[in-house]
Amino acid sequence: MRIAIIGAGFSGSVIARELAERGYEIELFESRPHLAGNCHTARDPETGVMLHVYGPHIFHTSNEQVWAYIQKFGAFMPFINRVKAHAKGRVYSLPVNLMTINQLFGKQLSPATAREFIASLGDKSITDPQTFEEQALRFVGREIYEAFFRGYTRKQWGVEPSALPASILKRLPVRFDYDDNYYTSKYQGIPVKGYTAIIERMLDHPGIKIHLATAFTRARAQDFGHVFYSGPIDSWFDYAEGQLGYRTLDFKLSRHNGDYQGNAVINYCDEDVPWTRIAEHKHFAPWEQHEKTIISREHSRLCGKDDTPYYPLRLVNDKALLERYVARARAEQGVTFVGRLGTYRYLDMHVTIEEALNTARVFVDTADGDGKMPAFCVDPLA
Ligand code: UDP
Repeated sequence: MRIAIIGAGFSGSVIARELAERGYEIELFESRPHLAGNCHTARDPETGVMLHVYGPHIFHTSNEQVWAYIQKFGAFMPFINRVKAHAKGRVYSLPVNLMTINQLFGKQLSPATAREFIASLGDKSITDPQTFEEQALRFVGREIYEAFFRGYTRKQWGVEPSALPASILKRLPVRFDYDDNYYTSKYQGIPVKGYTAIIERMLDHPGIKIHLATAFTRARAQDFGHVFYSGPIDSWFDYAEGQLGYRTLDFKLSRHNGDYQGNAVINYCDEDVPWTRIAEHKHFAPWEQHEKTIISREHSRLCGKDDTPYYPLRLVNDKALLERYVARARAEQGVTFVGRLGTYRYLDMHVTIEEALNTARVFVDTADGDGKMPAFCVDPLA
């Protein structure tokens, strides 16, 4: 059976590989001129540094199966993301940990006394926090919220933190020890040759035919036994219900001699600084040596129709729209919607891979998409 896969990010590439290995004939359509979606990496010709073209991607997972799987397609080097923050004229350690708390309040607290102190700052009148702001005020109090979260979040999302779901803040831990690893996952690393090399290896299979710089139109779906679509769900339906809200990013690149900021990522939490963070890409590959350096300043803004969608907004009106698109998708025959854009969810790479492996398994188990393959293997509305 011929299968069309739209999009060569992790979702599309994992499904392509898994189904090709089971004997399916895969045609992969990618509208961009390169593989790997927003994980795409490329050497900057001027500095020789491996550039994370669509912003920093640090691979982390606690899922043994996902970690073993990704390493089949290329070697990883250990990398721990230790983010710093510029806030109110000082430099702090992130995520909020014992160092940050002691720095911000000028104290020498122990884990136990810090826990008590932060609990005393939390707003206990908030019993069931629903929004980003309520979650922050409840658990860390106003000082930490205003120093690190309020300004950054307003810049990043373009709306008041009181309009955002608490789930966004729940991505970040608050620690009462000196652990400054940004992630809590068991495994963390960066591919030695970059993400695009990983995807190239994944797609290097005789059963997979790749069409780069090729948009797929809905009308072509009938030529295939099944379609896996990892593009924006609203775009599949020609925005018939309206446009789902996304944030896009502009990266302002500049090159310098030596070491620009001494770290891979520095967040800028104050609202009067227009960018949210600066990434210095050579620090994502500390095993390499480069005399020059390239940095990217990230500026967030509302995504227009011709911009690259990054972060799904999922505000109240987006959720209502999404419900209508999901209903349309469920009525569609022979198409499965996958990944961040296909299901309109904020997904990390490891979750995307896990879900893609599962989707391929469901397809094989439902016997070749005999009509029983669902439009979604995860519920986008959950
Ligand atoms: N955030 C913040 N201040 C920071 C870092 C993060 O307020 O210094 C908030 C912000 O709303 C952000 C969210 O926490 O969108 C999740 O942060 P994360 O670093 O996971 O974002 P990503 O790396 O996915 O852009």
